[in-house]
Amino acid sequence: MRSTIKLGKISGIEIGLHYSWFIIAALIVFSLGEHFHQVNPEWGTGKIWITALVTAALFFVTLLLHELAHSLVAQRRGLRIRAITLFALGGVSQIEDDATDAKTEFWVAIAGPITSLMIGFGCLAIAMGLGWHRSTEPQTAVTGVLVWLGYINIALALFNMIPGFPLDGGRVLRSIIWGITKNADRSTRIAARIGQVVALLFILDGIWQFFSGAGFGGLWIAFIGWFLMDAAKASYAEVGVREELRGIRVSDVMSRDCIIVNCGMSLQDFVDTYLLMTGQRCYAVEDHGRLIGLITPRDVGTVPRNGWGSITVREAMRPLADLHIISPDTPILDALKLMARNDVNQLPVVADGTLQGMVSRAQIVRLLQVPSMLQLPTTYRPTPQRKGRELRKSA
Ligand SMILES: [Zn+2]
Repeated sequence: MRSTIKLGKISGIEIGLHYSWFIIAALIVFSLGEHFHQVNPEWGTGKIWITALVTAALFFVTLLLHELAHSLVAQRRGLRIRAITLFALGGVSQIEDDATDAKTEFWVAIAGPITSLMIGFGCLAIAMGLGWHRSTEPQTAVTGVLVWLGYINIALALFNMIPGFPLDGGRVLRSIIWGITKNADRSTRIAARIGQVVALLFILDGIWQFFSGAGFGGLWIAFIGWFLMDAAKASYAEVGVREELRGIRVSDVMSRDCIIVNCGMSLQDFVDTYLLMTGQRCYAVEDHGRLIGLITPRDVGTVPRNGWGSITVREAMRPLADLHIISPDTPILDALKLMARNDVNQLPVVADGTLQGMVSRAQIVRLLQVPSMLQLPTTYRPTPQRKGRELRKSA
């Protein structure tokens, strides 16, 4: 989600527009222009295209309102929101925390479709107030815009209520099962299974329609089904990962053989003695036994080579204050979240100001691969008894 245009903030939530959205906006403008051209040719070219543009812009606003509804409800229930991004297929609210109870999950999920439904019926009601009759083509530009927005928002609400992840309906279903079973993981599994059944029905229906002559429309339904099937499988697998990592702490997986270098050393010495000799990616910098920062080959690369003799490791490193550190007893799931949130691949593990080790995404991924390599049953639970090795120290 890097290629987004930042539009500003609403209630502290960053609003972004992904470039792919312009493709859909252009498609909407052209198909609407075409439509108005056929139904209201007397409007003239200028009016037709302005109406189409205004409709696309307002559609963007209604999509944003849908996402804002999710985010604002989440915010009121104490969850942190990172950003809202609008892209080709709709919008995503990046909610940082998982809902801690079924009720929160339910209201956060249903807030979006409810908003779209209200906008939809609201638009149609205003259009009727302005003289539009149902099952007729709107005659004025204003009613034309309102009727299109009305139907598209109702369609959006209904589509989003399909009970499959990651659609809102999947989350609503999960929250209801969660409320009944009182078990978050089980509810995700059941909701994901139901999502797969719904997805399969979409695929079968799409194929059926395709062969009964619906052509592209049938394929489109099958495509949506395939997309839902994939998403349901992913959320099912995610629960497995979460269960496997539950109870594992950072101290269980962190690497303890992190190399420690003295802050007074020149970059030239550091490169010659450590970087070129050990090939490690990350080094801890200490000052009188206390961790003060980290230095990586990338940090060295930012310093011009002729400065390596006069610049010390301390000057080139990233100081502790700029780093996200983690304590050894942090659950590994929280470490993963912290890495994702800050877009880093490793975190220094620190206790009482001294470095205990490093934990990286790669380590956690390897940890997840071991049980399947050994073909252990998923129910197998180890009993950790090992003691940590000492850190490898050097001057
Ligand atoms: Zn939604």
